[in-house]
This record gives sequence, C-alpha cells and structure tokens, in this order.
Amino acid sequence: MRSKNLKFRLLIGVAIALFFVFKRCSQREENPYTGRMQTISMAADEEIAIGLQSAPQMAQQHGGLHPNTQYQALVDNVGNKLVNNSIARQTPYKYEFHLLADPNTINAFALPGGQIFITHALFSKLENEDQLAGVLGHEIGHVLGRHSAERIAESEYWQGLATAGSVGADMGGLVSGIGQNTLLTNGRDDELESDELGVKFMLKAGYNPREMIGVMEILKAAAGPNRVPEMQSTHPDPDNRIEKIEEAIEKYKNQ
Ligand SMILES: [Zn+2]
Repeated sequence: MRSKNLKFRLLIGVAIALFFVFKRCSQREENPYTGRMQTISMAADEEIAIGLQSAPQMAQQHGGLHPNTQYQALVDNVGNKLVNNSIARQTPYKYEFHLLADPNTINAFALPGGQIFITHALFSKLENEDQLAGVLGHEIGHVLGRHSAERIAESEYWQGLATAGSVGADMGGLVSGIGQNTLLTNGRDDELESDELGVKFMLKAGYNPREMIGVMEILKAAAGPNRVPEMQSTHPDPDNRIEKIEEAIEKYKNQ
C-alpha cells in the first residue's frame, strides 16, 4: 500500500515538473536586440506598466527626486542621446531618466520597461559626462536585455520545479537551492551583458567608452567593507568586469 502511494506521488511530481519544463520551452524566445535566447513570460507593455507602477515608490525610497533642474536636465540629455543614437530607440520601451535626491547610497538601477534612476550620491562622484553616459548606458542595457522580466520568468520556473519536487519526493529544498544559484548566476551575466551594451551605446552616441572603466573604479573605491553599491553587489569582481569592458571596446570601436 505504502509503496503504491509513493509511486503515485512520484508520478504526480514528474507530471508537474514536465508541465513546467514544457511551459518554459514555450516561453523561450530570442531577444531581437541582443540576439540572446531567454525565458520571458510577459509582453513589453506589461514590463512598461510594472516599471511605471513601481517608479514612484522607488523614488520615495531614495528621498524623492533631486530638486536641481539643471542636473536633471543633464541626466535627461545624456540618457536620451544614448537612446536616440542606438538600437534602444527601436524598442517599444519608454525610457525616462530620474535623478534621485539620495545623498548616501551610491546607486543606479533600472525598472523593467525603461524607468531608470541614478542617486545624487553616485552622480556627484562622476568626473565627466562620459561617465554619466556609462552609468545610464549600463542601465539601458538592463531594460533592453529584459533582465527583470527574465528573472521573473526563471523564478516562476524554479518555484514550479520546487513544487514538483516537494510533491514527488523530499527534494524540494534541493531543487530550490539550485534555482537560487541559477538566479545569482543570471545576475552576474546580466551585469556583463549590460556593461557590453553600455559600451556599445556610448560608442554610438560619441562618448568615450573607456570612461565605463572610470565608473568601475569609482564603484570599486566606494565599496568599503559595509557599503557595496547595487551596481556591484551581485556582480562579478570589478577587475574581471574591466577586462570584459576592454574586450567590448575592441569589439565595437570600428563598427
Ligand atoms: Zn547593473
């Protein structure tokens, strides 16, 4: 009796797992802007909606928008220049660039669909316009690379497999452990892809791509033992990143 029950549970577990595997297969698509295959479970307009919905809360968490309209105009100009001179312009995303008042957190980030933020703490550390282009270009890379949407779809998949695992056997913990690792690995790849796209956009817009390396140096210097900037937290080590940025400059400089 007992072993029959166990077999039944295993079958259900396998069926659930197969469902999520097939679902994931049907969600695989090629990103038309990067050429990379990825798992995506939402349309571009949903990404835009999520970004717009979360933007006010994001701003609030960082002391709201910075009051200096000249600084904000500079951020807008550099961001729009990057978008208008690159493939980013051909995407359905609505790019908006926000300078946040936060004087302490050295940070920049992107919400899905095109809402992009830089804190004044990071802004004030930058030495020139090219470095600002480096930061914004990297964030545009996250949007166009659809990294948030991809993480959401991948975590749905791993949660599904964990459910299957916990029904079929006591393997749920193991499977979700693998899932978490996968998410972190994706995080590192996301950063490298965004760095590369950032370099590409900088070149197209006439900025000096070597200043992306300057940004890395600033982040490296800012990261004390207790202060790890977002742009560096889940990230490959900075020297490895700089090496990849140099490769990207070589790859794109004559295109
Ligand atoms: Zn990043």
